[in-house]
Amino acid sequence: VIDPLLTLAAEDPDAPALRGPRNEERIELSRRDLIAGATAATARFSEAGLVHGDRIVLVSPTCPEFLLEFFGAQAHGLTVVAANPLSTARELEYFINDSGARLILSHPGCADASEAAAASTGITSRTIETLTPGSAAALPDGELSPVRRAGDETAALLYTSGTTGTPKGAMLTVDNLLTVGRVGGQISGATSSDRFGTALPLFHVFGLASVSILALSAGASITLLPRFHAETLFDTLIEDELTVVAGVPTMWNALLQVESDRKPTSLRLALSGGASIAVPIMRKFKERFDATIAEGYGLTETTAFGTFNPWNGRIVPGSVGLEVPSLDVRVKSLEGEPVPDNEVGEICIRGDLVMKGYWNNTSATEAAFDAEGFFRTGDLGYRDDDGYVYIVDRMKEMIIHGGYNVYPREVEEVLYEHPDVLEAAVIGAPDDYYGQNVTAIITPMPGTTPTAEAVEAFCRESLAAYKIPRIIRFVDALPKGPTGKIRKLDIEVPAASGSS
Ligand code: ATP
Repeated sequence: VIDPLLTLAAEDPDAPALRGPRNEERIELSRRDLIAGATAATARFSEAGLVHGDRIVLVSPTCPEFLLEFFGAQAHGLTVVAANPLSTARELEYFINDSGARLILSHPGCADASEAAAASTGITSRTIETLTPGSAAALPDGELSPVRRAGDETAALLYTSGTTGTPKGAMLTVDNLLTVGRVGGQISGATSSDRFGTALPLFHVFGLASVSILALSAGASITLLPRFHAETLFDTLIEDELTVVAGVPTMWNALLQVESDRKPTSLRLALSGGASIAVPIMRKFKERFDATIAEGYGLTETTAFGTFNPWNGRIVPGSVGLEVPSLDVRVKSLEGEPVPDNEVGEICIRGDLVMKGYWNNTSATEAAFDAEGFFRTGDLGYRDDDGYVYIVDRMKEMIIHGGYNVYPREVEEVLYEHPDVLEAAVIGAPDDYYGQNVTAIITPMPGTTPTAEAVEAFCRESLAAYKIPRIIRFVDALPKGPTGKIRKLDIEVPAASGSS
């Protein structure tokens, strides 16, 4: 995984690689520094007695040091279990026990839970070597000789958030991560003159693979922000002259709310994924930032990729784009039969980016792959005559109202067209008569006070009667997951019917 970075560092050691957020303690690392930091990390792994094949748990917010430890671990032949820095000791204990990790390595800012988890499981806990501008400049040159690894060794073990049962560790291999680097340039057009920026978590596949590994493998540099804050990202766009930003739809929406006289002019592309982006947001983004949002689709289990809208080709709003090179994306019936174009089925993916399985969980792995070796995503979608794929919704989020199937996403698209709607999530609320009622939970646009009646009337203009939200609630904020995606499972389902 580190080999392409070594080649790039040899070509131009002083080219920029990683930047922290802009402040007086800002760290800026060149390609040479990146390799030097990873080399120093490998020395610490040796000191801790870790050997090729061992697992470590890495717990850290998004920062350059995360990647130094990550690439150091790759050079040392370790498997990195990347964990949310907000994890509790109990959650970390689960990762340690399940993965058999020998070391937990955490950022000093979130070391308490790690120390507690290490104590109760009897493994070693260490903190990440954090850098200052001074120590970053003084990183010694090191001779990095990465261990030889097989392509199918597990480079990263990323746990799914466990919305159904206990979290499962997706085993992403050395080849999976190398493939991201290989196809990433085609997907994003990234080159060494690009300056990426993101506030996505690096413990999640999107921030780790499809932003960090993609950008660095293309020789581009990245600004890493520890948390998403719309004003900070907006200022960073301008001050760091970012050309590519990566995020989830809620971030684009929040960026559009930033009030400023300044206009970012360097941006060429916003890579969007993780959840579907409402078409009106894409339009507004283009108007404000003069940059294209290219939506892609993928999962942790497919190293973040499945399909993408070609940055230099035809971008189809509402579609998640074309099959990513190296993958075979098919739409199949639930019985595993091919479904004709324009008909809805389950999206299934096979190829070099698909995980080798779930760690230590043969039954889950067997259930996840079909007889032809395709990974079953659990997402419903279809492909049009031109090969563009459309995600209809997650199978488990479909609402059945009086026997009719309602796809929340279709209703959300309409809600996002309403000028007073900032964010919307559509879920099913249990109903004795209809089975489920279509329920809309809405965050109003700042300064507006929409009524349920007005929103309902608006929906009636575009949706069939059975799709109209029966229950409409307004809230100050919707629950979000670590990447910033709206977490429907955490929404309190309104009990009574009727609007309010
Ligand atoms: P869990 O770990 O509980 O499965 P998660 O579903 O958020 O959490 P991820 O691997 O982060 O796990 O997300 C993958 C899912 O995100 C996909 O299965 C799909 O439902 C959704 N998704 C990703 N990109 C898009 C997109 N562009 N449009 C619609 N949905 C998307």
